Amino acid sequence: MTTCLNCGVQAPDGISHCPACGTPARPPVADDVQTNKGMAVLAYILFFVPLITGAHKNSPYVRYHTNQGTVLFLTAVGWGILYAILTAVITAMLFNPATWTYSGLGLTGVITMILGLLWLIPAALCVLGIVHAATGKTKPLPVIGRFNIVK
Ligand SMILES: [Zn+2]
Repeated sequence: MTTCLNCGVQAPDGISHCPACGTPARPPVADDVQTNKGMAVLAYILFFVPLITGAHKNSPYVRYHTNQGTVLFLTAVGWGILYAILTAVITAMLFNPATWTYSGLGLTGVITMILGLLWLIPAALCVLGIVHAATGKTKPLPVIGRFNIVK
């Protein structure tokens, strides 16, 4: 017997949908991971593919990784906006309107380089997520892993 995760009704193994509420039956965890590994990995590269195809609805494993991939994407977008603002502000601060020149270009270079290196953080998280997805793990990513936005 298997228990419907939506309504709690007991249903025989092997059925495709819950007889009471119609929720798609969840495959056993091991099968879910094995069958949906590829989609879980894809969730970190193109997070919207599982959402469009609905793969996340039938597979808790895909949903878990789609959520992390989506949070990661939003984090990267947020950081991208912040990065653009910060570099624009730094550039504007160094501009001297009296002489139409920039002062402290060396410093700007160092700061923008440090800001640029921060891109390695979402990139590293993305790689970590792919490794988790490919090795059958549902481990939360550091910091961003506790956000839950994909239902
Ligand atoms: Zn049900």
